[in-house]
Amino acid sequence: MNRDISALSDQYFDILVIGGGIFGAGVARDATLRGLRVALVEKLDFASGTSSRSSKLIHGGFRYLEQRNFKLVFEACRERRILQRVAPHLVRPLPFLFPIYKDGSLSLAKLRLGMTLYDWLALYRNIAPHRTLSAKRALEMEPSLSSHGLRGAVMFYDCQEDDARFCVDHILHSAELGAVCLNYCALTGFVTREDRIVAARVRDEVGSCTSEVTARMFINAGGPWVDKVRALTPFDGDATRLSPTKGVHLVLPRLTQDHAIAFQARRDGRVLFVIPWGDYSLVGTTDTEFHGDLDSAHAERADVEYLLAEVQALFPDAPLSEAEIATTFTGVRSLLASDITSPSARSREHRIVQHGRNLLSIVGGKYTTYRAIAQQTVDAAVNLLKVTTQPCRTAEVPLPNHRPAPTGEKISESPIVWASDIVHACEEEMAVTLGDVMRRRTRLALSRAGGPEIALQVSHVMAPLLGWSPDEEHAQFERYAEEWNRNLP
Ligand SMILES: Cc1cc2nc3c(=O)[nH]c(=O)nc-3n(C[C@H](O)[C@H](O)[C@H](O)COP(=O)(O)OP(=O)(O)OC[C@H]3O[C@@H](n4cnc5c(N)ncnc54)[C@H](O)[C@@H]3O)c2cc1C
Repeated sequence: MNRDISALSDQYFDILVIGGGIFGAGVARDATLRGLRVALVEKLDFASGTSSRSSKLIHGGFRYLEQRNFKLVFEACRERRILQRVAPHLVRPLPFLFPIYKDGSLSLAKLRLGMTLYDWLALYRNIAPHRTLSAKRALEMEPSLSSHGLRGAVMFYDCQEDDARFCVDHILHSAELGAVCLNYCALTGFVTREDRIVAARVRDEVGSCTSEVTARMFINAGGPWVDKVRALTPFDGDATRLSPTKGVHLVLPRLTQDHAIAFQARRDGRVLFVIPWGDYSLVGTTDTEFHGDLDSAHAERADVEYLLAEVQALFPDAPLSEAEIATTFTGVRSLLASDITSPSARSREHRIVQHGRNLLSIVGGKYTTYRAIAQQTVDAAVNLLKVTTQPCRTAEVPLPNHRPAPTGEKISESPIVWASDIVHACEEEMAVTLGDVMRRRTRLALSRAGGPEIALQVSHVMAPLLGWSPDEEHAQFERYAEEWNRNLP
């Protein structure tokens, strides 16, 4: 699949989507499946924003029960069922244990009550209903858990996915269906006539050229950048306004056998997760106010110390120190602005906001509910366009699974990555930089295999495919290594 910048200015589109995270990708796929002519531009790589930096859960979000947000939990449970059906190769059931300790503020009885409600809101159609376990049984299942003061545990199911892969596959499917999707193509401004946008100005960061894209409708799926994109228009309209928060994860050697763990942090009572990830565990997440540069959010010392202390208390015999951290990753949540001071208590709901006649912005939302959000956004766009299209089909049409058969030299054992995966990423998946392959087409960068040694091997495979000169290959390596080092504690 080629990056073809000329395809953007050759046609008149029904919809131009700005942002190649999961919301933009979801909108592009939905609109293309309905028969609309769609283009999508992403200023960096697809999924390089929040959509590769989440906890990677497709979940009902049981902790929103505490905020009495039953509607959001009900919707998320429904979406969890739909996504398991349309993408079973990517959205997989994940059993959780939630251990309860004597000194925590949450009792076993209260958790059981919450989990009964969780099952009920899933219409009892989750993988299995929750179960209560004695302390002895919980320790049989996960022997490394702290036994000190353990009262018992609740076992329940949610789902896990690879967020970057899921998003990139949406882009690839949209392109296969006829959408023009470009990474490294930034929206830089709009051409407006009165209260209507007539074209968008975009800059191709690879070929260093600019062009104008004409479309009837524009959809701002800029995630945490949504306000910046809107600020490029002359419209005041209904402000989108965000209260962004930062979320950090640590990648540690595998801590559990078969389960993810949800637990209450000792310091502040927040719910944290330990999530299995191949030979590793993802531990997160923090949730703190963020007013910094959206393009360079990273883990601070305080974030690392907080997560490490909490996970060490839960797994007292695990040798956990900063040296054990393979890497960290950090995302910024685009949360709707609110008066609630605690970041964790802020709503994960979304709004679709119209500016002028033909710009819609998606504000807030969760990965889990992206499909429903995309459906509502395309419905709104179709309404404004006053066209008749086929109905939304994303709840039925399977997401294709185009993984290549492994051949060639093996580049890494954990995770297993073959040279053929890298070739496929460059030739079929629009990978442009070393970081694209290390971080999002493969997940090498979420393991110790993300270090310089393997990065160098990967760059040697990529260089002839992408026509890199020795200087360009060196520059690619340096850029990747700089980011890799920034994510080390
Ligand atoms: C730490 C953390 C953990 C999370 N865990 C979960 C979870 O387990 N489950 C869940 O359901 N949700 C989770 N979420 C929420 C979820 O990740 C987000 O809701 C989702 O990824 C948002 O996707 P998006 O497309 O709106 O944003 P993004 O993925 O950030 O995409 C926006 C894109 O717009 C692009 N862009 C910006 N400006 C321009 C421009 N001028 N031109 C072109 N492109 C532009 C950006 O480069 C970016 O790629 C988590 C979030 C965080 C931060």
